[in-house]
Amino acid sequence: MQAPERRDAVRLEREGDIAVIVIDNPPVNAGSAAVRAGLLAAIETVRDDERLHGAVLIGAGTTFIAGSDLREFGQPLAEPQLPTVIRAIEDCGKPVVAALHGAALGGGFELALGCDARVASPGTVVGLPEVTLGIIPGAGGTQRLPRIVGIPRAIGMVCSGERVHSAAALAAGLIDAEVEGDLRAAAVAHARQMAGCKQRLRDRAVPMADAGAVADATAAALKVGKRRPAVQAAIDAITATAHAPFDEGLAQERAVFQHLRVSREAAALRHQFFAERDSARHPSLDGAGPRAVQCVAVIGAGTMGSGIAIAALEAGHDVLLLEQDAAALERGATRIHAHYAGRVQSGKVKAAVAVAAACEARLTASLDWTRLAEADLVIEAVFEDLAVKQQVFQRIDHLARPGAVLASNTSYLDLEAIAAATFRPQDVIGLHFFSPAHVMRLMEVVRGTVSAPDALATGLAVARKLRKLPLLTGNAFGFVGNRLYAAYRRQCEFMVEEGAWPEQVDAALEAYGFAMGPFAVADLSGLDIAWRMRKAQAATRDPAARYVHIADRLCEAGRLGRKTGAGYYRYADGASRPQVDAAVHDLITQVRCDKGLSPRTLTDGEIQRRALLALVNEAALLLAEGVAERATDVDVALVNGYGFPRWEGGPVFWARERGAAALQADLDELAALSGQGFVRGDVAVLLDGVVCDEGH
Ligand code: NAD
Repeated sequence: MQAPERRDAVRLEREGDIAVIVIDNPPVNAGSAAVRAGLLAAIETVRDDERLHGAVLIGAGTTFIAGSDLREFGQPLAEPQLPTVIRAIEDCGKPVVAALHGAALGGGFELALGCDARVASPGTVVGLPEVTLGIIPGAGGTQRLPRIVGIPRAIGMVCSGERVHSAAALAAGLIDAEVEGDLRAAAVAHARQMAGCKQRLRDRAVPMADAGAVADATAAALKVGKRRPAVQAAIDAITATAHAPFDEGLAQERAVFQHLRVSREAAALRHQFFAERDSARHPSLDGAGPRAVQCVAVIGAGTMGSGIAIAALEAGHDVLLLEQDAAALERGATRIHAHYAGRVQSGKVKAAVAVAAACEARLTASLDWTRLAEADLVIEAVFEDLAVKQQVFQRIDHLARPGAVLASNTSYLDLEAIAAATFRPQDVIGLHFFSPAHVMRLMEVVRGTVSAPDALATGLAVARKLRKLPLLTGNAFGFVGNRLYAAYRRQCEFMVEEGAWPEQVDAALEAYGFAMGPFAVADLSGLDIAWRMRKAQAATRDPAARYVHIADRLCEAGRLGRKTGAGYYRYADGASRPQVDAAVHDLITQVRCDKGLSPRTLTDGEIQRRALLALVNEAALLLAEGVAERATDVDVALVNGYGFPRWEGGPVFWARERGAAALQADLDELAALSGQGFVRGDVAVLLDGVVCDEGH
């Protein structure tokens, strides 16, 4: 091998007559202007150098190209752009083999599809996740992929952003070979063996597709993708391959990509991407490493405890499930068993059956609390009652081994008051899961003033192992998520009191993109929990503060939500679909009358704006109080835990877009409409240091 010809992010090395073009742009070899320029120059060398008969593209480090550098996407793209690089590969007259390991995603996989062959190490993932970022593949992905897998499968893959593992990729023809051992050597051999022969996907015909299969794939993609513009655009681009000549399809795809790239929706989705990435940075933990966790004890086998147990089992942990009595333990164990029985029944592959069996084998349901000594992490999920939780923590303190991390799943209670029940408050943290705990991605990791950094680091590491998105929060009533949601719901109640019906508020917010409106959510979770809390807080509430009595009246009438067949809506004969109920309108009218309020009409626009402003205001308060670490954590919480539409970015994204002056005026208006008791936040803290939406 000769000395490498060094370039910035790409270098060309020679193995006899084959060029090995190494992409070296740590940490994940993201496609960038420098990478594209380096690749183009290297391909031109391959084309012009008669001693070279082919080339291999390979990534340095642990991956091929894991995606494009998204920071470039909000600005004009620098030349050369990716289609130019791929065109050069196609036109260079010599075979180019993509050697894939780690991830080949987005532009990385499009580059690979532009090569003449693809070989991959076992465990490689390939895919085109662009649609999840509000764009479509823009460098031929929608045109080349259907030439391998056909139109229906291409629609499914692109619209869902599916990541395909190497074994499945081989079966689908997305890669030509899976190679154990030395990837680079295998790819060089592959290129040499192709001996001057080009195998461009552009020259391949698109397999004939059954119209019914295309229609089914389209309908499924639109449903799952909530009819977002990028989903429809991807479908259009892929189905065009059935009739459009390759270059025409390519040009059309590029035009749509360029248009979507600068759209608001794509900017919002990129904002959310960066917000999630940033939420994983915790300078305050100062590099503290997590403690080792294999055995997780879950105390309380109710709704949350059983979900938490399932999540921990699926992450490979041994789980010890403890309860106060045999009947409750039995109910929890049955719930977990039913989950796995369901999985086995729907399991298309034997693997699902084996996984379910392995998970169940790692579960111990017991009433013997002395076994707590085996646990590395204890997660308490008993009733939301401080005295009960303190008692349970005292008992845990007696039995758990020194160094075990002790966590509470409390939704609202003071973590420090819970920790004070132990002689080791430094080991106590909050791990606030969302319901259903084995499904929801968000998890708040709550920090008490004396929580040890390595206990918190353990919580964060376990969360990630459970495939959750952890958010580090301060210890304050409702932490970040429930505190935001309470402000949002309060504002929605104000709007009902002023004249909107609950169903109108729900419809307006669902039209905005929320998965469910706040009153339908309240019915689903049950109105009694909040009622109990309001009663507990009654003595300390400012009597002059505005208070909406509607929920109390509903509860007093026995309307506790779906479980009682009635709440803000009626659920007739066990039906789960909410039905508007005249009795609720009468009750609301009465409440308005009691306060001497004349109802007025609120537009959907006003409802949406006030709901957003309430969230923005609460975000400012949370940030000022240090409960949220950074402004964008608010957007992460709402999108991943509360059904806020990802494609709208989040309230902080919206606030930054609106700008300081407009926001101040908006909040003046909100404060006036909300009346006595409204605490105004300083929104400047949300806008501080923002250069542009992608200034990361
Ligand atoms: P649940 O009523 O379904 O389950 C609580 C379980 O704890 C019951 O099985 C009960 O037998 C057991 N338990 C009570 N006291 C006990 C004790 N002293 N020792 C052992 N076990 C005891 O309640 P849940 O909805 O699962 O909520 C549990 C916790 O999770 C609460 O703190 C709640 O605030 C929190 N949480 C709930 C949700 C939700 O949506 N349900 C979401 C997030 C967090």
